[in-house]
Amino acid sequence: MPTLKIHNPATGALLVEPNADDAASVAAKAAAARAAQPAWASVPLAEKLAVVQRFRAGVVAELDALATTLTMEMGKPIAQARNELNGLLPRIDFFLEQTEASIRDEHVFDGGGMHEQITHIPLGVVANISAWNYPWFVGCNVIVPALLTGNAVLYKPSEHATLTGQHITRLLHAAGVPAAVMQCLVGAGEVGSALLAQRLDGVFFTGSHATGVRIAQAVAPKLLKLQLELGGKDPVYVRADADPLSAAEGLADGAMYNTGQSCCSVERIYVHESLHDAFVERFVATVKGMRMGDPLQGDTYIGAVTRAPQLAVLQAQVDDAVAKGATLHCGGRSRPGPGHWFEPTVLTGVNHTMEVMREESFGPIIGIQKVRGDDEAIALMNDTRYGLTAGVYTRDEAKARELLAQVNAGTVYWNCCDRVSPRLPWSGHGDSGVGLTLSTYGIQAFTRPKAWHLRQP
Ligand code: NAD
Repeated sequence: MPTLKIHNPATGALLVEPNADDAASVAAKAAAARAAQPAWASVPLAEKLAVVQRFRAGVVAELDALATTLTMEMGKPIAQARNELNGLLPRIDFFLEQTEASIRDEHVFDGGGMHEQITHIPLGVVANISAWNYPWFVGCNVIVPALLTGNAVLYKPSEHATLTGQHITRLLHAAGVPAAVMQCLVGAGEVGSALLAQRLDGVFFTGSHATGVRIAQAVAPKLLKLQLELGGKDPVYVRADADPLSAAEGLADGAMYNTGQSCCSVERIYVHESLHDAFVERFVATVKGMRMGDPLQGDTYIGAVTRAPQLAVLQAQVDDAVAKGATLHCGGRSRPGPGHWFEPTVLTGVNHTMEVMREESFGPIIGIQKVRGDDEAIALMNDTRYGLTAGVYTRDEAKARELLAQVNAGTVYWNCCDRVSPRLPWSGHGDSGVGLTLSTYGIQAFTRPKAWHLRQP
């Protein structure tokens, strides 16, 4: 039987080597899910809601231990791991509160002896292939509404968040989800690939653009529902009328939180020339004040880089920028192991010939570019193939709304950043993906509408 080696990215230590899935076990799990799904779909919604309520209670009861596991397997600072778990609770509450209304039968017409009705039926068996950076968030954004709407879920957590994936599955089973209805598949890309070879009714993927494209190509002949939540190169513009100091502090957090490994991390900053120097000074001071080190320490802010190959990507972006004339204010290099570490890095004097302003960094590095005004800022913000989030800092709400309406992104922020709400749809434009999670749309996403034309005899 194959196994998966799970290492702690902060120490390099082998944590555990669980059994992994192979093509035969993936096929068996898919068959079991297919057989079990109709009975789960027929369970009354009130019972499904009670199951998810018990799952929520299970998360609360084990929160500290679950946070420690998350920190050990992907290097997230422990305070931020607890924040992720605490942030999960209102998401679960949103799904508990909104599912009934989101999938209620709709009676849309009565007349001339005809009755027209819409029902929302489950997709069936859905695959969730997931990322490691916020495994509780991106896992449960799919799993919870998929289960509440009557689907069976074949969940392939990232190989860098497998233990968390197994905990999610265990807690759902303990809460009352039948074992065959919610199954965890252990392994890396080849297990994801084996999953895509099964008969499925939906594929919900969170991860990189490159893998997303491969998945889209693999499932194209199946003509199934496909959602891809991919990377970004999220820009923020600090306007001339903004407070440069509070903007710098907020954006330093938005760029470096989770060691810069958030899909909606601030990845590019454009600052009006009149504020640039004050902004940069406060930004650099804020970053220098962020403690990097043992992720299990409560005051650590910058943890380990989860995937070792990303260190070379970060170094190449920094070297490319410096070679083309950028100024390096702090960081700029990896730290020797054990573990994978990259010092928080601030670059100014950057421009769009540099990789750091074009390709997703997904680490603790940021480029800050001076701009002359709104038109230049908007043109630069839109000069990207991605479109996940974008923000503007200004005192002028009307101007913020005017500028954000022109930005090509699924989510826009005024005077805030790196924020996700369960009440709002989470989606990407361009190479940031297709489909959405969260909001009531992200509940209906796991159903198909069925149209009824009913004539009385
Ligand atoms: P990744 O693409 O390397 O892996 C994602 C998942 O795909 C993993 O479970 C992996 O095992 C699996 N996989 C890899 N190759 C596969 C294949 N050929 N077939 C099927 N499955 C395969 O991404 P990652 O490193 O886990 O995540 C980081 C990326 O995710 C970043 O680009 C980040 O921006 C993005 N992300 C996006 C969102 C969002 O909501 N838009 C949220 C979190 C992360």
